[in-house]
Amino acid sequence: MMGNGKKKKIGIFVCHCGVNIASVVDVERVAKELDGYTDVELSTDYVYMCSEPGQKMILEQIQERGLDGVIIAACSPTLHEKTFQNVAELAGLNPYMVEIANIREQNSWVHTDKEKATDKAVKIVKSMVEKLRGNEHLEPIKVGITRRAMVVGGGVAGLQAALDIADHGYEVVLVEKEPSIGGHMVQLSETFPTLDCSQCIMTPKMVEVSRHPNIKVLTYHEVESISGFVGNFKVRIKKKPKFVDEDLCKLCGDCADVCPQVVPDEFNMGLSFRKAIYLPFPQAIPGAYTLDIDSCLGLLPVRCGKCKDVCDARAIDYDMKEEIIEEEVGAVVLATGYDLYSMQALGEFGGERYEDVINGLEFERILSASGPTGGEVRRPSDGKIPKNIVFIQCCGSRDPELHNSYCSKICCMYTAKHAMLYKHRVHDGNATVFYIDVRAGGKAFDEFYQRTVDEDDVLYMRGKVSKVYKEGDILKVRGVDTLTGKLVEMEADMVVLAMSMVHADGSGELMKKLKVGTDKDGWLAEAHPKLRPVESLNAGFFLAGCAHGPKDIPDTVAQASAAAAKVGDLFARHELLHEPTIVPVIEELCSGCGICISMCPYGARSLDLTKHVVKVNEVLCEGCGACAAACPCGAAQQKNQTDEQIFSMVKAILKG
Ligand code: FAD
Ligand code: SF4
Ligand code: SF4
Repeated sequence: MMGNGKKKKIGIFVCHCGVNIASVVDVERVAKELDGYTDVELSTDYVYMCSEPGQKMILEQIQERGLDGVIIAACSPTLHEKTFQNVAELAGLNPYMVEIANIREQNSWVHTDKEKATDKAVKIVKSMVEKLRGNEHLEPIKVGITRRAMVVGGGVAGLQAALDIADHGYEVVLVEKEPSIGGHMVQLSETFPTLDCSQCIMTPKMVEVSRHPNIKVLTYHEVESISGFVGNFKVRIKKKPKFVDEDLCKLCGDCADVCPQVVPDEFNMGLSFRKAIYLPFPQAIPGAYTLDIDSCLGLLPVRCGKCKDVCDARAIDYDMKEEIIEEEVGAVVLATGYDLYSMQALGEFGGERYEDVINGLEFERILSASGPTGGEVRRPSDGKIPKNIVFIQCCGSRDPELHNSYCSKICCMYTAKHAMLYKHRVHDGNATVFYIDVRAGGKAFDEFYQRTVDEDDVLYMRGKVSKVYKEGDILKVRGVDTLTGKLVEMEADMVVLAMSMVHADGSGELMKKLKVGTDKDGWLAEAHPKLRPVESLNAGFFLAGCAHGPKDIPDTVAQASAAAAKVGDLFARHELLHEPTIVPVIEELCSGCGICISMCPYGARSLDLTKHVVKVNEVLCEGCGACAAACPCGAAQQKNQTDEQIFSMVKAILKG
């Protein structure tokens, strides 16, 4: 007999999960077959164990029968383990005497043969009985909280999250990799569905962030590494040298005037040029120039040095070096946003070949009053006003064979906006939109799209474009009108591609460093799509905006506020409770070989040099079990998951 050697009284509660489990697993048979199994005091089933009557039944049975362990045979523990642990606690039972037998995700959802699935469910539950017999009562490990947050990404999502957290009274460190905060929203012209000016909403928010006493803005910084755990992270942040002292720079622009190096301007999507020393855009925050070392002729005065010579404010410092700074925070909001899929990937549309085939963000800059054409619609090649313009939707989206399988969600709407704004500015112009179907599922979105068709006379052509090519000076768009089945070919002065949204460049590497999960497309993965949509499975990390998937501004802002509320919720706690199912070291068995130290992905293990055995930082240990599997001496035994328990579980499964 395992555990403390005493006979246990175990209750088994088998859930139907409506028809989710019951249609494939004969739940009554499972309950019946477990009745009378070693230490089982009660075995029963119910249609929804997680509902109020289900929870009440468990609570009453624990109290009436004096159960000292329960097994819930139901869905994955990630969904309701906490719910059932709470029920046990209410009934006076130690929550670590609750085990979940997953007979949904690991059984009914992946099998069809009822007989075999039921046999498997019986084995799963029996194995959990064996585990539970060896469980000991555990108490969560109590940890203090650093009530300070880090927000990564200074787009509208990051700014909103930072402001909300700061308004709750907590300090925020905002890390942005570019020289200015603002993200993509400051590049937009007017925004659907209200057509209000993007900059007029965004720039005051940027100012508010920069002036907020609780927010420390770190632009041109990147997260290098993070250690610690929820409530107590230590972050190493790389400060890239701007070579200009932000506090001394007077924004006179004399440096840029004399700088001989001219490169494409990222803010205007390469449709205009900037100097090697530059201000990203006039409303940039912080308001200071940045010397882009990759474009500079070289910092030695013999090579150039013109900007430093001319700067009266003595703001330019060629000796600035990259630095690493450290910050301590209790929670992290990830708001790294999106980029656009490369036009090069769709070579048939000529995006990188023809100057007048551009993407949506380039068109935003053309439409913007602060853009390279002052808001007049002019084509990049010769500055002429395009009289025929073609918009192509779903470029690289909804194409599982060749590109991205997902819908980028916002391109139907911004294409409608683009076509509408074009018609507002070029009254005698013709706008045609090629679409697969129009998805306008937001508040006032469909009405906005209808206005484009009815009032602005935009031609919507249901079809797929196969090719954009050039005949002489004229662009030609060839495709199929899928409603009539006819081939269409039309001339265009300019083509705008609604490129798929993709996760921000470099976010994959960052998430690996932070050990934050992503989905198959690289977007941040939420802990649960319905119940925990703004949390990562890695505790203490919260998701906001397009880093999590394509979103418009209202959804981005709503999610950012939700993430901030979650941070506030965390910080409002007195202390944090860390799972006690860690892997301690049995010192008498430990040979000090150190194998487990290299296996631990959380850096929780180190060598005690005086005792020459391994010691464990309990709050860093996430209980993943990597060390327990690797230890050749059996000295690393996970709490409530010992070798003895695992062997007895395997035996129960093999016996059936
Ligand atoms: P972003 O704006 O992408 O901001 C992310 C920020 O994180 C950036 O500043 C980036 O530099 C920074 N970052 C990235 N990686 C790191 C890192 N590793 N470390 C530090 N910082 C990092 N929505 C509407 O509602 N209405 C519209 O009219 C509209 N028009 C659009 C038109 C086009 C052509 C496109 C492409 C989108 C449009 N959108 C519109 C959508 C809108 O742009 C997004 O909803 C919004 O910008 C998302 O904000 P965000 O903060 O999540 O991401
Ligand atoms: Fe700033 Fe000096 Fe350049 Fe003027 S010359 S913008 S003060 S760095
Ligand atoms: Fe000790 Fe085992 Fe780690 Fe080796 S692997 S140091 S024996 S706990």
